[in-house]
Amino acid sequence: MDRYAVFGHPIKHSKSPLIHACFAKQTGQKLSYEAILAPLDGFPEAIHRFRQEGGLGANVTLPFKQQAAKLCDTLSERARLAGAVNTLYWQGEKLCGDNTDGEGLVRDLRKHHIALNGRRVLLLGAGGAVRGVIPELMAAEVGELVIANRTAAKAKELASLFSHLGAIRGGGFDEIEGSFDLIINGTSASLSAALPPLLPEMLAAGGSCYDMAYGDKPTIFQQWASETGATINLAGLGMLVEQAAVSFEIWRGVSPATDEVYDLLMAQLGEAT
Ligand code: NDP
Repeated sequence: MDRYAVFGHPIKHSKSPLIHACFAKQTGQKLSYEAILAPLDGFPEAIHRFRQEGGLGANVTLPFKQQAAKLCDTLSERARLAGAVNTLYWQGEKLCGDNTDGEGLVRDLRKHHIALNGRRVLLLGAGGAVRGVIPELMAAEVGELVIANRTAAKAKELASLFSHLGAIRGGGFDEIEGSFDLIINGTSASLSAALPPLLPEMLAAGGSCYDMAYGDKPTIFQQWASETGATINLAGLGMLVEQAAVSFEIWRGVSPATDEVYDLLMAQLGEAT
């Protein structure tokens, strides 16, 4: 049986084994996919052991995405730009890394008919998730990307790092100017029921909102989006499923359908309440 896994710390909460088991069943691919708790100081050794035991590919989650990028012999352009890897595979002895988070987000936005081309987009946060999605947002020809973060210096640093990709500005929340066609929350604030200091006028008429976080009920950011009149108001479960589909395509060369897996996960979240 072809063997795949996700490595993280913690890892028990990961939905990746269920998602990939569904993809495998649906596409008739014979593979196993497990969740592996890598020691905080032993990620490279865990990957090495997995390969020696016959592993063919892996996903990487917190807190190892940047370490994974350093471990790779070759990186996709988007993984190199992000400095973070969530998908590993081997070509012969070479360890290859890709980052599918951004494509996952953009696929989910497109699926819901949220336009990016030429649009003004506000991206909140400056952590690993935001770093991973900037290259794909710019590849989708966003008109202007404004990155705003609690620690302004980190947003400024990201804006300057990616400035060659197009019109990108970065700063603190108090430096946000004008209104946006799309506001993406890439902070982890929703996980502690906190809301970045947003003003209703920051969302343009007809604009949409996307929270990369998700839960068993609308996040506090989604509640703000709803009160502010967002046309489309989504949480990150779709991004999670779409980024997994991109990994699956890289490993297996087939595209799984994502809707039924999304529905299954939504139903599970509903049962957990
Ligand atoms: P990081 O820990 O790398 O970054 C956290 C970011 O959130 C930082 O910019 C931090 O600001 C900001 N932040 C944290 N708390 C607050 C707060 N109370 N108010 C304002 N800003 C805050 O996390 P990640 O980038 O890995 O993850 C960010 C979010 O994206 C999480 O909710 C995660 O679950 C989600 N995610 C979803 C994925 C999906 O597939 N749907 C994939 C990956 C991530 P500062 O720099 O000032 O500390």
